Amino acid sequence: LREPGRTLGIKVCEGAVHRCNNKCVFCFVDQLPRGLRKPLYVKDGDYRYSFLQGNFITGSNLSRRHLERIVRMGLSPLYFSVHATEPEVRSYLLGDCGERDVIPLVKRLAAQGIEFHFQVVLCPGINDGRVLDKTITDLEALGSRALSMAVVPVGLTAHREQLPRLAPVTSEDAVKVLQVIQRRQLQFRSSRDSRFVYAADEFYLLAGGKIPSQAAYEGYPQLENGVGLVRREIEAFKRAAARKRFDGIAAGSRCLVVTGKLFESILSGLLSGLKGSISGVFEIVPVQNKLLGESITVAGLLAGGDILEAVGQHPPADAYLIPGAALNEDNLFIDNLSLSDLRQALSPGRVIVASGFSQAVAELVALAKRGGVNKSC
Ligand code: SF4
Repeated sequence: LREPGRTLGIKVCEGAVHRCNNKCVFCFVDQLPRGLRKPLYVKDGDYRYSFLQGNFITGSNLSRRHLERIVRMGLSPLYFSVHATEPEVRSYLLGDCGERDVIPLVKRLAAQGIEFHFQVVLCPGINDGRVLDKTITDLEALGSRALSMAVVPVGLTAHREQLPRLAPVTSEDAVKVLQVIQRRQLQFRSSRDSRFVYAADEFYLLAGGKIPSQAAYEGYPQLENGVGLVRREIEAFKRAAARKRFDGIAAGSRCLVVTGKLFESILSGLLSGLKGSISGVFEIVPVQNKLLGESITVAGLLAGGDILEAVGQHPPADAYLIPGAALNEDNLFIDNLSLSDLRQALSPGRVIVASGFSQAVAELVALAKRGGVNKSC
């Protein structure tokens, strides 16, 4: 009998990743500086990883054999990047390379039982407004095989030399996009009993609007795409506070909470709600993304070097809460700095990595109870 925890001794050969054959005008891979983690430069267009890991594909590189295999093996749901259903607009966005008209392809697979989660990367002035409205209409019309649709803002780094000029999403753009999405959600709630289309968290934060309720995310179908992460964190925080999960941190202990600029205001709001009921002192360190550019504000794309520089401007703390989303499965930041290097640099302070703030604080409390954090935590 194999003991629990022992591997089978079989290594599955994963084979090469199928690359996409597009040149999307907003492709994030093309906007990366040199010297980052190698897998970041792979233009993944692999339907297998779309099914297995929820990676978005455009479908442009699917051969007849691939399509047959998807249906035969029931690789469903697939995560599909549509961007626009208007052929000219989609063609422009894919760099004049991909399948112009995505609807026949999706319809063909849907008719054979394949379900979809869709994505639109919103580029102001190109696929917003009327184009976005039509895209929502066309995708929703696919019926029950169309499970959800996320609209996410285009990410523009500071490394776009020789790439098409694109405008970033402004607060005004965000307000307009939310108006379209909320109007359609209202309509779909009565026609299909589901909102179907969801805006990424960034739109609400940019627009300064209220984050939708938990119920409005209907089970968070596109959480990995940044749709509902903020609401989920707020709910986790409320639950943890109600269960007094934050008790146990010694008075006077100082903890630096590292986050991206985007989440700063939400985090400050959560922390101010705890004032008087938590003994430790939590200071937020909103890290500016110097590696990719200041318009990249999410925590998941923070470089280890930028984090070290930002926390270095504060007096040493007893603990540092680091967003887990910034690390890959090998515990490397985007700039190849390892978690152990970061731990060493911040020693003797304890580094706690967690998927959210509440989880990080809960781990901090657990560590303090075990005596694993110095006297003050
Ligand atoms: S599909 Fe477009 S955005 Fe995605 S990797 Fe290929 S070129 Fe880049």
